[in-house]
Amino acid sequence: MLELTTPVQYVKGIGPRVAEVLAAKGIHTVDDLLHYLPFRYEDRLNPRGISELRPGEMATVIAEVRNSGLFRTRRMPIFQMTAGQGRSRLKCLWFHGAYLKDKFKPGQMVALYGKVELGRDGELEIIQPQFEMLGDTNDDASADATEQKVAASLEIGRIVPIYETASQGRLTSRWFRRILRAALDNLSPELPEPIPAAVRRRLALISPREALWKVHWPDPGESLQDLQSSRTPAHIRLIFEELFLVELGLELKRREQKAQTGIAFRLDDHVREAIKKILPFHPTTAQKRVLKEIASDMEKSVPMRRLLQGDVGSGKTIVAFEAAIIAMENGYQVALMAPTEILAQQHYFSARRILENAGYRIVLLTGSLEDDRKREIRRHIAHGNAQLIIGTHALIEQKVEFDKLGLVIVDEQHRFGVLQRFKLMKKSREDRVGTGASPVPSEQSERDIARMPPAALGISEGGFAEPDVLVMTATPIPRTLALTLYGDLDISVLDQMPPGRTPIVTRRISDDRSDEVWAFVRKQVATGHQVYVVYPVIEENEENELKAAMKMYKELSKRVFPDLRVSVLHGRLDADLKDQVMRLFQKGEIDILVSTTVIEVGVDVANATVMVIEHAERFGLAQLHQLRGRIGRGAAKSYCILMTGGKVSEEGERRLDAMVRTTDGFQIAELDLELRGPGEFFGTRQAGLPSFQVAHLIRDRELLEVAKREAAAVVAGPTAEISQEEINHALRHMRARWQRTYGLVEVG
Ligand code: ADP
Ligand code: MG
Repeated sequence: MLELTTPVQYVKGIGPRVAEVLAAKGIHTVDDLLHYLPFRYEDRLNPRGISELRPGEMATVIAEVRNSGLFRTRRMPIFQMTAGQGRSRLKCLWFHGAYLKDKFKPGQMVALYGKVELGRDGELEIIQPQFEMLGDTNDDASADATEQKVAASLEIGRIVPIYETASQGRLTSRWFRRILRAALDNLSPELPEPIPAAVRRRLALISPREALWKVHWPDPGESLQDLQSSRTPAHIRLIFEELFLVELGLELKRREQKAQTGIAFRLDDHVREAIKKILPFHPTTAQKRVLKEIASDMEKSVPMRRLLQGDVGSGKTIVAFEAAIIAMENGYQVALMAPTEILAQQHYFSARRILENAGYRIVLLTGSLEDDRKREIRRHIAHGNAQLIIGTHALIEQKVEFDKLGLVIVDEQHRFGVLQRFKLMKKSREDRVGTGASPVPSEQSERDIARMPPAALGISEGGFAEPDVLVMTATPIPRTLALTLYGDLDISVLDQMPPGRTPIVTRRISDDRSDEVWAFVRKQVATGHQVYVVYPVIEENEENELKAAMKMYKELSKRVFPDLRVSVLHGRLDADLKDQVMRLFQKGEIDILVSTTVIEVGVDVANATVMVIEHAERFGLAQLHQLRGRIGRGAAKSYCILMTGGKVSEEGERRLDAMVRTTDGFQIAELDLELRGPGEFFGTRQAGLPSFQVAHLIRDRELLEVAKREAAAVVAGPTAEISQEEINHALRHMRARWQRTYGLVEVG
């Protein structure tokens, strides 16, 4: 009997070797395996007769292979296979299909799926159909006769799920079908039910067991459309459960945070004066509003946990400095953390420019400092001599002792997510209190809720005040998503650009017209402006891309602009050199900076008015937007030139088109989410955002909000509807899930 927690290698047909392959796909347990959902379904219960097909429709056809062969046209080899039902025939074509040469044997049954079109000869055809051989089980030679029969019934005579293949196609859709059937057949009849009965009733959710069966083995009567759009009761049940458990964790976390004692900063006229004194310009209305929100948090004795969201260039830095002044004027230290060394440097320079005259003591602590210097700075921090400490995240994650830390500002740009933040907060607390709040919502808080009425949750942790935390991000997340995903934070939005900006002109141009681009660049440099030329570095092939960037640099510096000051910046340079180049560029001593995307984040050079992006079709939309945010930071008119080389995919076209059409970060974010899906959008890799098994944040937005509402109600405590026991049960599941899925490294 299989439990959900059983390692996947014990499922019939999977051994330790295959289990390893599956692990690479994030499938470790039976539970993971059962949540590996089909991305599509084929109706092989009522497959279409060839004679009734109409051009333009997507269709599944089950037919017999008649003949096949490869023929060459002037442009490419094409593989053709003709399938038949009685007297009807359907032609299937694969461009460059030489690899299919020995695939189809006459008489074999095959399932075909694709778009039906009218061929030039007036006959129906499908170009590049997806296909699957039927009734041949040669991918499992050991199968006996009955197993072969079951295998056949997995593939025809029903609505058949289609799975993404794994291990370079070795684990086929068919294979998954068979394995999943084996897992379901042996699944324990009693599956845990984490969702309280009242919630299940309200939303008419089916049981987990039924849901798991039906997503993989849909009822014959199920709507194909609901299946394709993940809207069957089975899908909804699984998606809701996942979202509910995530939201439960966030809600609990939020409550835990609110239960801690923070610092109630004083905000009197003296502090207000101090803020006014440093302002180099009139804040925008949005900046004023946001500062008010932050200040009012800081005055409260509950620790601030606020997210400041603002597009690139919206002026987050000055707001952060204002908050820093409130803390410093109250006698507290402030830590400002940036994701990269260059950015930390830049914050340090602006902080000195803006704050040092007012007498605040500012230090920069980065990894590249000499050890002696680091020690010295640490001493200043420990003794309270340093008031504003700026550094990379590594700074705080290492052992830094503060004298009196009052405010932590995290400039995460788009690089950090909810989980890193939990770790960070845990860190700042461990260092001071010696205990750690787990990144996973803790059992302690469960007990708190179990025992105490909410009003009594006000105070804990014996007198240690939590520092306030302000997180700044440049990722413009659509508001409903932000509210749900960053559910542990309060949110402020800078939705207004500082005045005096001339909108950036964005143009797209093919790189065979690069001469015109370079002529334009030359003109801009002649009027005293500076230029970025950005080259993509794509991870899989960093080496080659880097070479290409260096070649570009040589080409530009030697051949195109031998008379101008051209320099290069890329990720492989050591930190000192990077800083040196960046500083020269900031000082205007470099005209043209050829760069990989290392300049993507936050560097501010108002005199740079042109950004040329080579192979713009290879960049993601959010990345293009961030890059473009490096220009247009002064009053001079700025230009973003998107060069494309070679063929651009349809999705690429939409990205480029969006860039030319708008500079609104929120619009761009919406489209980006749509194009890439949330996993990619939030960069699950770096963002540490919960990566979802079955939910899709755009498609399932509404369910997400329902899940948040229901989770909040559960966390609020028992009612006539929901018992304490059910709450504990749900929270236990939530914690297990968080630990397993999001907290693997940190849980001890
Ligand atoms: P980001 O939100 O991307 O961090 P910054 O804080 O770097 O943006 O601000 C971008 C630029 O706009 C900086 O050069 C900053 O000095 C300037 N700036 C910010 N606020 C204002 C304002 N209210 N008026 C004029 N310029 C401003
Ligand atoms: Mg910034």
